[in-house]
Amino acid sequence: MNCDCHMHMVLDGVEWRSAIARHSQKPDTEFIHKALAQYQRNGITYLRDGGDRWGVGAKARELAPQYGITYRTPLAPLCQEGHYGAFIGECYVNLKEYARLVAGIRQRGGDFIKIMISGLMDFDRFGVLTEESLPETQIKELIHVAHEEGFSVMAHANGARTAEAAARWGIDSIEHGAYLDKDALQTMVQMGTVWVPTLSTIGNLLGKGRFREEAVAAILDSALENVADFAAMGGLLAPGTDAGAWAVPHGSMTELGWMEKALGAEAESFLSRGAQVIQERF
Ligand SMILES: [Zn+2]
Repeated sequence: MNCDCHMHMVLDGVEWRSAIARHSQKPDTEFIHKALAQYQRNGITYLRDGGDRWGVGAKARELAPQYGITYRTPLAPLCQEGHYGAFIGECYVNLKEYARLVAGIRQRGGDFIKIMISGLMDFDRFGVLTEESLPETQIKELIHVAHEEGFSVMAHANGARTAEAAARWGIDSIEHGAYLDKDALQTMVQMGTVWVPTLSTIGNLLGKGRFREEAVAAILDSALENVADFAAMGGLLAPGTDAGAWAVPHGSMTELGWMEKALGAEAESFLSRGAQVIQERF
């Protein structure tokens, strides 16, 4: 694959607090150069960052052309105060404030909008998310405001009803997408939503002993099953490692291998179709 449609330059795949601390005064350009060089060595020509509020993705975008890489960043991801995402993004308390943040991202040259609309997987407990998702009425408004500003929208979204709601209201891509079901997948196919399942964040945990192994294996199995179903239904899938997440270093090439577990030899052609749509939209 020659692209990674979901990564975080601010993180390092080891420990998020110290990774962020490295850039808290100003972006560590030496770190960014090293990561970009690694992507270049692996043949990557397109990166889509999940965002950070310290300007690390923006700095990477500035340096990326030296490495022959097209780099897209939402600047900071936007999250609802009190919900998942505050560790890395900018928070809003109401829709008016959200609209102000979106306008700010327009002014500061963001390439797209990233919203956080659900919690994370609890890797110790199959089927459990760390918190409640945002309600559908709010998801609809978040997407609408960003589209009105002319942005494409990427959503961190886990859970079938959350992803289904986001797809119904025209989200451009769903990231992670744990625990989807047939109805959610069907809506995503109908709406042309690109799904970036970031299988590496799950698969790369196997055998590491960080979480309950049976839970990790069950989470991975359900993701692989959904990926296979989605592909069979004609859905758009794109490769994104979530590099920077634990056990996913920059320049990781693990995503294709996990996708092959679900899709076999056809994985690459499926992914290149989805990746092309991502690059058109973002
Ligand atoms: Zn991410």
